[in-house]
Amino acid sequence: MVRDETIAIHGSYLADGTRAVAVPIYQTVAHDFVDAAHAGAVFDLETPGFHYNRINNPTVDVLERRMTSLEQGVGAVALSSGAAAVRYSVRNITEVGANIVTTPQLYGATYTYFAHVLPGEGVEARFAADDSADAIEALIDDGTRAVFCESIGNPAGNVVDIEAVAEAAHRHGVPLIVDNTVATPLCLKPFRHGADIVIHSLTKFVGGHGTTLGGIVIDGGRFPWADNPQRFPMFNRPEPAFHGVVYARDFPDRPYIVRCRTVGLRNEGAALAPLNAFLLLQGLETLAVRLERQQQNAHLVAEHLLSHPRVSWVGYLGFDDNPYHLLAKKYLGGSFPSIVTFGTAGGHEASIRFFDGVKLFKRLVNMGDAKSLVAHPASTTHRQLDQAALERVGIPPEMIRLSIGLEHIDDIIEDIDQALES
Ligand code: PLP
Repeated sequence: MVRDETIAIHGSYLADGTRAVAVPIYQTVAHDFVDAAHAGAVFDLETPGFHYNRINNPTVDVLERRMTSLEQGVGAVALSSGAAAVRYSVRNITEVGANIVTTPQLYGATYTYFAHVLPGEGVEARFAADDSADAIEALIDDGTRAVFCESIGNPAGNVVDIEAVAEAAHRHGVPLIVDNTVATPLCLKPFRHGADIVIHSLTKFVGGHGTTLGGIVIDGGRFPWADNPQRFPMFNRPEPAFHGVVYARDFPDRPYIVRCRTVGLRNEGAALAPLNAFLLLQGLETLAVRLERQQQNAHLVAEHLLSHPRVSWVGYLGFDDNPYHLLAKKYLGGSFPSIVTFGTAGGHEASIRFFDGVKLFKRLVNMGDAKSLVAHPASTTHRQLDQAALERVGIPPEMIRLSIGLEHIDDIIEDIDQALES
């Protein structure tokens, strides 16, 4: 089974004795041990198995394995939200005094977490002047534990040159963490381009129906954590939080993700519920066909907006003159995301009137839904940012972000037109 569309439907699930075709929802908190020896072996990670569902669960396990296959990694930890995935990916390799270097274009809560929460835990987030490898490399020093970026920034719509940024990070012995939420694993595989850790908010395109929060951290399995024990002591010393395991020695092919589960998830507990894993698996099954239709619709919407007299600019990666078009072609082929941003000719006030005027579009801050969605980032997801910070992250105050859904294209365009007229 090698093709993504097939993996997304069948991957990593072997029916149990009931021959159920849908992945069963194992709505249980714990699993009955055979005896004390079995319990000890499972706790020591010597025998694969389930014990307590904060740590792992059979339904969640299918989702983790399926996403790992799609991203071509070696293991994953699913979490209760994408925000938890951001946190766990970074906290797994940072401690007081460390820093991370990030592109400035980030999802709003990720920006806030890096700028205002991580420093309180003794970890500095250094925001590069832009998303170029040079700007990022200039901020890396001996305390840097990771470079972080979104493959496609939400909502800025920038495309990061993952290969160049990974090379810059690796020159200094630092891993690259890529948030691949907007691109999805079907359109972009960051591990192929040198990324070391991939994370997702599964809430968006993967779930696809606006019903379920979820996140995931996936390990590419190639970063040499053992080569730099000073920078990464957590993999190279006996782990006090998990009975003395030395992760790089005991799990040499995937120390990062084993620690993420046994130290991060086990002790901080942002576990994904089995029912939510089931709903996200349902979404994943149809991701390929949804993407195709959403991307077609988005292309038509972007062209329509471009020709509209009340629109001053349109941000869409499929346009030849988009500054990121060439990078988008390189990393996404022809699969340009169904996210379209634009500014109204009337500026901020007119954009608010557009936002208030839509009838079919749902006014909310999610994306990747079957339904068409509209957001005004400056007054919602990025509301905490002042003018200077908004500019830095690539969000003009008049920016409207559309996530184009699966409705009939004529209905989508009619709604846009009537709202622009308002
Ligand atoms: N990463 C990106 C790129 C996002 O767009 C979002 C949410 O919009 C998140 C992470 C956080 O995900 P969640 O809302 O599932 O916590």
